[in-house]
Amino acid sequence: MLVVRGGRVLDPSRGFDGQADVVIERGRIERIGRGAGDGIRGEAVRVIDASGHWVVPGFVDLHAHFREPGQEYKEDIASGLRAAAAGGFTAVCAMPNTKPINDTRAITEMMMARARNAGGSRLYPIAAATVGSDGKQLTEMSDLREAGAIGVSDDGRCVMNAAVMRRALEYARTFDLFFSQHCEDHHLTAGAQMHEGEISTRLGLAGWPSAAEDVIVARDLILAELTGARYHVAHISSLGAVRLVREAKSRGLPITAEVTPHHLALTHEALLGYNTACKVNPPLRTEADRAALRDALRDGTIDCIATDHAPHSQLEKDCEFEAASPGMIGLETTVPVLLELVREGALSPLRLIETLSTRPARIAGVEGGALKVGAAADVTVIDPELDWTVEPSSLCSRSANSPWLNQPVRGRTVLTVVNGEIVFGS
Ligand SMILES: [Zn+2]
Repeated sequence: MLVVRGGRVLDPSRGFDGQADVVIERGRIERIGRGAGDGIRGEAVRVIDASGHWVVPGFVDLHAHFREPGQEYKEDIASGLRAAAAGGFTAVCAMPNTKPINDTRAITEMMMARARNAGGSRLYPIAAATVGSDGKQLTEMSDLREAGAIGVSDDGRCVMNAAVMRRALEYARTFDLFFSQHCEDHHLTAGAQMHEGEISTRLGLAGWPSAAEDVIVARDLILAELTGARYHVAHISSLGAVRLVREAKSRGLPITAEVTPHHLALTHEALLGYNTACKVNPPLRTEADRAALRDALRDGTIDCIATDHAPHSQLEKDCEFEAASPGMIGLETTVPVLLELVREGALSPLRLIETLSTRPARIAGVEGGALKVGAAADVTVIDPELDWTVEPSSLCSRSANSPWLNQPVRGRTVLTVVNGEIVFGS
């Protein structure tokens, strides 16, 4: 038995924000409420003092890259799941752009088996929508679903052919998979290094215009309406895409969208000085885009936050800007980066937790996202005031490609519980 006592419990699934104890037994939440843990003691009872801390449903990440199979020197499933637990994520969806690409039942099953052996946070594969993610031939989605995939995506690449995209959405709908699209018109972004704008001009780097994201979102929303599929915009980054999603949602379409912590926190100005840690895809955009993303997250146009955790070794980042691989790690810096938004008044604590747990759990159709009696005991405890420095030695991820590296930050996950078992912290 585990008792998490005296914390500030935030449960967006029932709009609860108040002091309460959480009593966990046999992997489930047994009791919850003020004083619910009073008088519980004994040899088999572990009491955690959570006073001054937030006690929230475990986070669910819809978008992470674990690099296994194929690039385990950057991250593998075990190290990725450790990083997830350290960041407060009790479940992570792993994108299929591994080497080889996860486009078959065998690879999905292998990933599930590795995750089971590693233990800790749960892994849910998102399998490829097309064979080799080359945008031509659809994968065997019924097999992939049976093997454990919960969604499909060609992430890293966009499905460019509208006819293939239409059929992919129809298939995904048939097999009850959500479709997460990396929205990028590759013809418009050929050679692009960063957002197309005044900073790219100043730096002399080829630009990735917002329009390349917007045109795909516009096309896909039309196809989503045609097919009735569960369409999801991955890492939305532009003001134009936000407007399109808002309009489609106002007509009741079952579409959803995620945004990354870095697109909420940073703009293309972070690229001044050619900092390869800030080279991401889609790129960091303008202040107007960032403001639109924050507004959309607040009003529900954007449903949730996903990390796009993309580990790379020094080899891929300590090089010329144009040669550097896009992406940054995110699992372990999400809490301090987003608490900064709460401190700035851009987001309420309850909405923040909803976007990290309740909403993404529902989009993926997986367990979690609630602190209710009888629910699986996936619980994260955060110390919102803890000051720490992001250093390679302080991270569980195998990679350290982060713009927050060697920076002081405030707020950290101190305890993560999955199915009633402590998987991070003490
Ligand atoms: Zn992507």
